Amino acid sequence: MANRDTRNTETFGAGARVQVMLPLPIAGPYDYRVPADLTVGSGSFVEVPLGSRRANGVVWGPGGHDIEETRLKDIEAVLDVPPMPAAMRAFVDWVADYTLYNPGAVLRMAMSVPDALHPPRPKTVFARSAQTPGDGFRMTPARQRVLEEAADGPPRSAADLARAAGVGTSVVKGLAAAGLLDVGQATFGPRWPVPDPKWPGPELSVEQGGAAARLVASVGAARFAVSVLDGVTGSGKTEVYFEAIAAALEAGGQVLVLLPEIALSAQWLARFEDRFGARPAEWHSDLTQATRRAAWRAVADGTIRLVVGARSALFLPFENLGLIVVDEEHDASYKQEEGVVYHARDMAVVRAQLGECPIVLVSATPSLETMTNVQRGRYGYLHLPHRHGTASLPDISAVDLRADPPPRQAWLSPPLREALCEVLGAGEQAMLFLNRRGYAPLTLCRHCGHRLHCPRCTAWLVEHRLSRRLQCHHCGYGAVLPGSCPECGAADSFAACGPGVERIAEEAAALLPEARIAVVASDTVRGPAAAAEVIRRIVDHEIDLLIGTQIIAKGHHFPMLTLVGVVDADLGLSGGDLRAAERTFQLLYQVAGRAGRAERPGRVLLQTFQPHHPVIEGLLSGDRDRFLEAEAADRKARHWPPYGRLAAVVVSGRDVGRVEAVAAGLGRVAPSGDGIETLGPAPAPLSLLRGRHRRRLLVRTRLDIDIQGLMRHWLGQIKVPGGVRLHVDIGPYSFL
Ligand code: ADP
Ligand code: ZN
Repeated sequence: MANRDTRNTETFGAGARVQVMLPLPIAGPYDYRVPADLTVGSGSFVEVPLGSRRANGVVWGPGGHDIEETRLKDIEAVLDVPPMPAAMRAFVDWVADYTLYNPGAVLRMAMSVPDALHPPRPKTVFARSAQTPGDGFRMTPARQRVLEEAADGPPRSAADLARAAGVGTSVVKGLAAAGLLDVGQATFGPRWPVPDPKWPGPELSVEQGGAAARLVASVGAARFAVSVLDGVTGSGKTEVYFEAIAAALEAGGQVLVLLPEIALSAQWLARFEDRFGARPAEWHSDLTQATRRAAWRAVADGTIRLVVGARSALFLPFENLGLIVVDEEHDASYKQEEGVVYHARDMAVVRAQLGECPIVLVSATPSLETMTNVQRGRYGYLHLPHRHGTASLPDISAVDLRADPPPRQAWLSPPLREALCEVLGAGEQAMLFLNRRGYAPLTLCRHCGHRLHCPRCTAWLVEHRLSRRLQCHHCGYGAVLPGSCPECGAADSFAACGPGVERIAEEAAALLPEARIAVVASDTVRGPAAAAEVIRRIVDHEIDLLIGTQIIAKGHHFPMLTLVGVVDADLGLSGGDLRAAERTFQLLYQVAGRAGRAERPGRVLLQTFQPHHPVIEGLLSGDRDRFLEAEAADRKARHWPPYGRLAAVVVSGRDVGRVEAVAAGLGRVAPSGDGIETLGPAPAPLSLLRGRHRRRLLVRTRLDIDIQGLMRHWLGQIKVPGGVRLHVDIGPYSFL
């Protein structure tokens, strides 16, 4: 596959004026001059003077004339790293334009590893020389061992060689001085073996084969095209897109796979390694600095062929993308809420378009946004309606909690208790799902009714009994449970209200004293290694009952798991989130999909107070499309996305008066007109977060209106005083 990057060929010689983009939150690039001894190209990483310091940036193109010749400064150096590809520069500009963040702030995400801009420093290494020991040389056992090690292995540092031979480094240095070891320079670091696309995959069913063939054709066309791979859980979607990955690798391109919960991707990594004979490069926040640095450079120079990563992997400097896969495309965690606010699935589509490569969006419950694009004919559609092999979809039923209430101070209803006993008695596994960490979401004083809340947020403190602390799930504030009520002084008066996963575990342990129980939540399982270990224990049946939050709901394949109990199916349904119903449906469908993935049939019990809610009815009937249609009709009628555009502004600061003044000022000049509506300012549901007061405004427009232009004009009219921040969110997913 040829490198399609043509803009990189533009070069600038001595005296030329060029624009350099810096990874700083500034509005645009600055002009610099190319000095006599340098040549730079578009995309070159360069070092430039900035005030009294130096900064690294990227040559963005020919300079403008915004600064006088005499004040123009020279570029100091061109860095020894492949230039940023044109598609990547265009992507930075595009994301900035769309999200209303400064291009420098976006570029910072694309230069997240400053160390990677310099080649790794070579280290001194030792290898066996051709020389034989002379007459005066005294051979000792230690020296003998080093020479043997050196003869057998690759060149290594003195420390590594000494360790391998079980001697001190002075022995190695003595042998080098005697000429028996050659001394050289080499660089070390992680290396990524090349995945082998020729390894055979499983034999695909006719249905799978048809979908795979279309994806492979789309990879072969090497043009931008979006395919939606919609298939029920366990239908073999992963096997199908592995075929597309094989085709892209074979054609010489790079592949990017995005996963929502990279910390829990152990099973995916193992499957990839089985299929392609090599572990892929990973990209997420849990890597060491050395790996991060080596991986960034190896993506830039093309030696890494496939990256599986979290949303930030989108900003890696791929020079030759042949395919992007977004698995679980509907997942809300693709929306980045901190720093530059963007949606990684949507931006992945943009990246594919700018890189002229195909992209596959994969899900068992595609988002309404994606399905609307299918209906509008913009995205291709591939459907896998059946589970692979003999596995059938689980049987889903509701437990009406009004008719079958759990015992007092308990949360598992009689039918669910019975099912648990049955399944565990038969030697199978069960899972209880509750999307709430900790022991109890609310602690109150029995005496005066005071509720323990976070001093910095509009939120209750959640009791975590395992760690013996109260925690704010919004800001991380923690405290020990006070001995007496801070309001009325009553001693030992606190009562835990409502369940979290820890409390469910307590109830289950009392009910099933023999069962081996594991609680899986982001605070009980920290990091990819711990997650991989839990998954292994489940697969190896060292655990009978799994109690977890959404981190366990996605993607995993547990052959012995035959019962899923959803403790509170209504949990996500209330609240002012326009996607509440859709998101609950997707989450519960995913959770249900964990049951009965192998020969043994699965069963799902949804505990609910609203068995006739459209979400619950949709899950019970298995009629996803009807649910989606009803949801679409509802949004269409109210012009919510994807049938309208939405943007949010949150004004925040410690001084409530200033915050309100800015919010009111924005309200006075708010966009209005045909097809435009502004809601607010109003206190955000989290009206206090980390000690900052928050006011929200929401702009909703018709689809044909340029909401970015409107927002730019609007926000440009307001002067924001110190201590007040505007958080702009185009296409918000969070309404807190
Ligand atoms: P999905 O991604 O749609 O949930 P998977 O790709 O994880 O489905 O497939 C579910 C299980 O079935 C996996 O263990 C997978 O290896 C297996 N499987 C799917 N298709 C095939 C096939 N054609 N031959 C053998 N095993 C398959
Ligand atoms: Zn808090």
